[in-house]
Amino acid sequence: MRTPRAAHLRTAAAVAALALALAACGQDSEGGSEEKKDSAEGGTIGIAMPTKSSERWIADGENIVEEFEAAGYETDLQFGEDKVENQVAQIDNMITKGVDALVVAAIDNTSLTEVLADAKEADIPVIAYDRLILQTENVDYYASFDNERVGKLQGQYIVDALKLAEDKGEKFNIELFAGSPDDNNTRYFFNGAMSVLQPYLDSGQLTVQSGQTEMNQITTLRWDGGTAQKRMDDLLSGNYGGGTTVDAVLSPYDGISIGVLSALKSAGYGSGGKELPVVTGQDAELASVKSIIAGEQTQTVYKDMRKLAKQAVQMTDAVLTGGKPEVNDTETYDNGVKVVPSFLLDPVSIDRTNTDLLVEEGFYKAGDLK
Ligand code: BGC
Repeated sequence: MRTPRAAHLRTAAAVAALALALAACGQDSEGGSEEKKDSAEGGTIGIAMPTKSSERWIADGENIVEEFEAAGYETDLQFGEDKVENQVAQIDNMITKGVDALVVAAIDNTSLTEVLADAKEADIPVIAYDRLILQTENVDYYASFDNERVGKLQGQYIVDALKLAEDKGEKFNIELFAGSPDDNNTRYFFNGAMSVLQPYLDSGQLTVQSGQTEMNQITTLRWDGGTAQKRMDDLLSGNYGGGTTVDAVLSPYDGISIGVLSALKSAGYGSGGKELPVVTGQDAELASVKSIIAGEQTQTVYKDMRKLAKQAVQMTDAVLTGGKPEVNDTETYDNGVKVVPSFLLDPVSIDRTNTDLLVEEGFYKAGDLK
């Protein structure tokens, strides 16, 4: 009679035989183990995205999976929900499962050193996706946009909208917001914007009534819109009474812009002859594009995530198949341990005059924007 124990042993033997057969598949004709994968035979890619709380990362996850599948790979896509420990555990799990490569958009750029040392140990290449991972040599390539240019586009938009270059003797008030302090992109966006705005602060054409101009005074942890709304409420109640109004708000991301706009509207901007200030943004998220069309948010920066996903997948595939990943910048992105070879895409400024571009490029359908 077959006892459960015997059945268990039989199952174990079958598993061992399967493991041997699988291991044999990994041997080349000389009997050595295969080092690089051929994309045709695929492999599994671990994809760690930061959060589903913003549309862009959901789209990024979907685009990356689609591109890898088209190239013959399987994928394991995880979202860390903006909790550092979740992301570390997810990556750890991917390494244990034996993924062939990792594509990571970090939640906190310095929290992955240990887990990426384990990836290195397991010979798993790492591509930093949109956000550079800092303080580790175990990041092979970086795919992103020209992040400084994103900030410059936001700063320049404000300069143009207020016609500051014409210097008609008018003075304006501005408040400044930056992104999450643990995201490497934050300082690139802010420095880019300030490189354009600083001369006008120096000349007195622009004034920050709150006096909060240092990055550590204006960051927004985890890019949270609610946190930004609260800060804007405080800025308005503390600095903008009795006829002093704010004319521009530098906002680095659409979710922050929406929070800022809520605070402004609660304080009476946008009605009764009190105009909304110029408010910038980033990502061309649907709610913000609609807000731009409705005349509330003024500008956003469109970054075609589909192109970014393609680039990251090409890079990963090249690494796995022994090819040379395409890079166009080998100077800018020093992560504290090394300069990470990068491919940077071009961002595009969008305001109500060119939202059509988003439809022309198939980023949105015309009906989405109604
Ligand atoms: C990305 C931006 C995004 C922000 C918040 C940054 O790292 O580059 O596109 O707006 O994170 O998610």
